[in-house]
Amino acid sequence: MQFVSTEKILKEQPYASEPVSFKEAVLRCLPPEGGLYVPEVEHDLRSFFLHMGEETTFPELTAAITPHLFEGELNPMSASRVAERAYNFEPELIQLDETFSVMNLYNGPTGIFKDFGIAFLAALLEELLQSENTTCMIVAAARGNTGVAIARAFLNKRGITTVLLYPDEPIYGLDKAAYISQGGNLIPIRVKGNLDDCQKLLSLLIHDREFAERYRVTAANSINPGRLLPQAFYFLYSFIKLKKHISGELIFSIPSGNLGNLIAALYAWKFGMPVNGFIAAMNANNSFGEFIKNGTIESFNNSKPLISTITPALDISYPSNSERLVSFYKSAPAVMRTMVFPESIDDETTIQTMKMVWDKYGVHLDPHGAVAFAASQADANFRDQGHVVVLSTAHPAKYADLVHKATGRKLLLPEHLASLNCQAEPIAEIKPDLEALESAIAGCF
Ligand SMILES: *Cc1c(COP(=O)(O)O)cnc(C)c1O
Repeated sequence: MQFVSTEKILKEQPYASEPVSFKEAVLRCLPPEGGLYVPEVEHDLRSFFLHMGEETTFPELTAAITPHLFEGELNPMSASRVAERAYNFEPELIQLDETFSVMNLYNGPTGIFKDFGIAFLAALLEELLQSENTTCMIVAAARGNTGVAIARAFLNKRGITTVLLYPDEPIYGLDKAAYISQGGNLIPIRVKGNLDDCQKLLSLLIHDREFAERYRVTAANSINPGRLLPQAFYFLYSFIKLKKHISGELIFSIPSGNLGNLIAALYAWKFGMPVNGFIAAMNANNSFGEFIKNGTIESFNNSKPLISTITPALDISYPSNSERLVSFYKSAPAVMRTMVFPESIDDETTIQTMKMVWDKYGVHLDPHGAVAFAASQADANFRDQGHVVVLSTAHPAKYADLVHKATGRKLLLPEHLASLNCQAEPIAEIKPDLEALESAIAGCF
């Protein structure tokens, strides 16, 4: 598959650069003319997954699909090494009844679905770098759990240095022994600003070609197609697990913040997965709903104050994948309006849904999963005619207090997640300023 910038699609830029390969899109991360990388044409991959049986494992599916994203740049042997190194955990699909399934995506090392994309990117980069005998620097702008997930996935990956930019708040769960000053490969940098400032800084760093080429900088955020595309695999996976057990329409309900998961779902559809619709489940910060109403990228209103909710991963005013979403709408607006349905769920409904799902099915949902479950019930179009797969994106024990409040049940944090609670120190603290960032990084070598 070849990749182009969203700029080419959105602004029909005559000077947009030539399409690049998947490998180059992963290593460069951001196109030189601005925008984000998207597939020029999504290939029809039906012949590779439609025949797969229920017994297919997630690494098998990953290994089978990956070479087709690379078109000859990654052979099947390498693809299968990547899949096996990345995934010693799987999505867990639980069919609740005729109407609902939940797909638990929290069985990875840090208990959030982001482990899937991050683990793939880490294993992929290691494979690509080894075959070329080169090194690279992976930079992530992230807070909380996501930052830790990235630091852990890239720990001890040969040839890779990891820079973690996190906003001005405490961070937990980084292992001191992983720091570059202790012989590891991690440079955690605290930025005196918010997550937006960190993301802008990351973008500036990648667009500083001299610095970016010297250190071979790329990003670990979902702006990187190497993290985004593999997230399409678990939608295909749930399709092959469910196809014999359901009749009628298939719908996914997706808790949506930066829209990475939603975009990945749209790719799964474009790859040929038979599906009838996607619910973009949001909390009170309903930026995508505004977009659907107005149809322009400006309606992702940057200046609207954020509301703080019990689903912090969805408290986002300008989703970092917005341009990708808008480029889908630009190509086929009418089709998109029949495929993607926004819903906004308030905190009280979220708590009630956690209770309802526990009482009725004996299953715990974290609040983000509960937003998705509630959204699928809010829309009468779906309630009656299809089967809804609800994405459960975080381990419920990470939100034990809310689970307790909703259900009266006390959940114990599994040991591998408990170690994420230890506060960590940065290697440097900087103002949100490119020069400060570059000298902090250079100072570590
Ligand atoms: C990041 C995250 C989300 C939002 O996913 P996006 O791909 O950013 O839309 C939902 N739930 C949890 C638990 C998350 O960590």
